[in-house]
Amino acid sequence: MKGLSIIPVVLLSVCVLAPSGCDKKKESAAKATPTATPTASEADWCAEHGVPESICTRCNPKLIAEFKQKGDWCKEHNLPESQCIECNPDLKEKFEAMKPKSGK
Ligand SMILES: [Zn+2]
Ligand SMILES: [Zn+2]
Repeated sequence: MKGLSIIPVVLLSVCVLAPSGCDKKKESAAKATPTATPTASEADWCAEHGVPESICTRCNPKLIAEFKQKGDWCKEHNLPESQCIECNPDLKEKFEAMKPKSGK
């Protein structure tokens, strides 16, 4: 029992000592930001390949090494596994949801 009673004191002092206080403002701001469906920005969308331009290995071959390093690579289709709709048909829906709605 004696040990447990120390915990609230420690938490309180961490709160007081932290430079930004309890960060309650920051927390509520983060909650206000809509995070439900992350939609790619129109500028960052490869309509040709149906993925965000920033991760399109077919447009940016430089990215290939990075995906391979992460072990996220489908040798069969020459695509990151996380973008390979052939191997992961569920991804089609995911990228469809990310697609900028106002785009053509
Ligand atoms: Zn592309
Ligand atoms: Zn594949």
